[in-house]
Amino acid sequence: MSQSIEDGKVVQFHYTLTNGEGQVIDSSRERDPLAYLHGAGNIVPGLESALTDHEAGDSFEATVPPAQGYGEKQGPGPQSVPRDQFPDDMPLQPGMPFMAQTPDGEQVQLWIHAIQGEQVLVDQNHPLAGETLHFDVEVVEIRDATDEEKEHGHPHGPGGQEH
Ligand code: ZN
Repeated sequence: MSQSIEDGKVVQFHYTLTNGEGQVIDSSRERDPLAYLHGAGNIVPGLESALTDHEAGDSFEATVPPAQGYGEKQGPGPQSVPRDQFPDDMPLQPGMPFMAQTPDGEQVQLWIHAIQGEQVLVDQNHPLAGETLHFDVEVVEIRDATDEEKEHGHPHGPGGQEH
């Protein structure tokens, strides 16, 4: 009996992601399909809801507005931080996420926007914030999540977390 995608299913799918200008941002096609636990917020909300009720073998396109993707751009824009504020052995690359601590001791997620000599531009926005995302999706496999996966909130095994 074929299963359809609903909360508590582990889904493996292939995707190609293009931005509003038609540039390919990312694709799973040269890798194993991505696995996620449906209903656990592992993937952007707009893509998760577009996958609901699909079955293995389905191919479809989903257009996800920023609010259902990586959010609208917020804040003052990229801020300059001296390179020596980062650990020496940390390889810095544009688009790379990292955790930082605010003066209040709160952990926040930031992204490296660009590197300019000894200055690193960092931003609070995900690199794809403000972008309308176009996903080309193929559902590969659907199975029931294990109790452990439900507890962890993510899938284990191929395409999921290895631990
Ligand atoms: Zn786990």
